[in-house]
Amino acid sequence: MGPGPINVHPRVLRAMSVQLLGQFDPEFTGYMNEVMALYRGVFQTTNQWTFVVDGTSRAGIEAALVSTLQPGDDVVVVNAGRFGLLLAEIAERCDAKVTFVEGEWGQVVDPQAVEDAVARVKPRLVACVHGDTSTTIAQPIEAIGEICQRHGALLYVDATATLGGMSVPVDAWKADIVTAGLQKCMGGPSGSAPITISDKAAEHIFSRRHVEKGLAAPGTAGNGRRIASNYFDLAMIMDYWSDKRLNHHTEAASMLFAARECARIVLEEGLEARFARHALAGAAMTAGIEALGLTVYGDQAHKMTNVTGVIAPAGVDYDRVKARMRTEFEIEIGAAFGPLAGKIWRIGTMGVNARKHAVLQTLAALEAVLRWEGFAAPAGAGVDAALGVFG
Ligand SMILES: *Cc1c(COP(=O)(O)O)cnc(C)c1O
Repeated sequence: MGPGPINVHPRVLRAMSVQLLGQFDPEFTGYMNEVMALYRGVFQTTNQWTFVVDGTSRAGIEAALVSTLQPGDDVVVVNAGRFGLLLAEIAERCDAKVTFVEGEWGQVVDPQAVEDAVARVKPRLVACVHGDTSTTIAQPIEAIGEICQRHGALLYVDATATLGGMSVPVDAWKADIVTAGLQKCMGGPSGSAPITISDKAAEHIFSRRHVEKGLAAPGTAGNGRRIASNYFDLAMIMDYWSDKRLNHHTEAASMLFAARECARIVLEEGLEARFARHALAGAAMTAGIEALGLTVYGDQAHKMTNVTGVIAPAGVDYDRVKARMRTEFEIEIGAAFGPLAGKIWRIGTMGVNARKHAVLQTLAALEAVLRWEGFAAPAGAGVDAALGVFG
């Protein structure tokens, strides 16, 4: 019940155990094309360039930034949590000039502050996290998309923690590159990073196309500055996922099968039904936590539905509570990073864990553990409150 990685859907585990195929096998390239179509559905986009990068979510982030940014480029990074800092760290490695829009942890940023920064530095790219699990807050991407559109900047969004659990309407947001992972609300293992890229962003990336020596020429090489990474060169990766099938890496077949199965499950359930299920489980968890006499962290109007920050009450041993949840009840909850380390626990309701029994069992266990710590949690109140929300 942490904020990811989470329990993997049994169908995904099964998909990962089937025999492998090489990436040029016609059956396998059929699966690759299917993955592209499935993820267009999951990302709510018509973007042709929608596929998966092999590696954890960070691989998607790094591919997006290193393929877009070149030395000297201006980038505006919305910094309102642990993963905003990661975006800046990667952008700095690209020798881009980072301008921060600072947001307070637990709050949303003011879109006007983003607009002011964009108008001032005229960046090539604005980079922002949608739902940052470190703070449990979802940022107002739609407003930021409008700003980027008006000022001609590309918009990159890290939707790792929300894809498959909250709406990630890539086209409606006017976002140019959005990346994610499987181990949050997609209900899979870490190791595959879904990505979608607008034609405008793809055009910029292809302008930096470099032809690897020894490979058949893919047509015109771009005349822009070569992308600094080979593995994360999205121009090469797009040529690999295109009908050209230009060799790049050996596709991680088991991860592709996992990514495919995750998306099939998400779309079978239906996006709206899935978002509603996550919202209901999150609301029940929040109600249960409050009924136990605890305080939920952050601006509740903008809280992610799929993760709940619980402020550790005075007098209890923060680490021991987390450890006892695991050893006595087999329930894993999350600790916190940076300024919130030792202060809040993070409880996820993601993927298969966004379910009534998982919420009720977690609340019952937390109540027992807190009482062992001497905290007077009212008996049964958490479960009752959650049941009240589930109806
Ligand atoms: C969990 C999370 C990540 C994790 O990246 P990995 O490389 O998969 O560990 C990245 N970004 C956000 C917003 C996350 O919530």
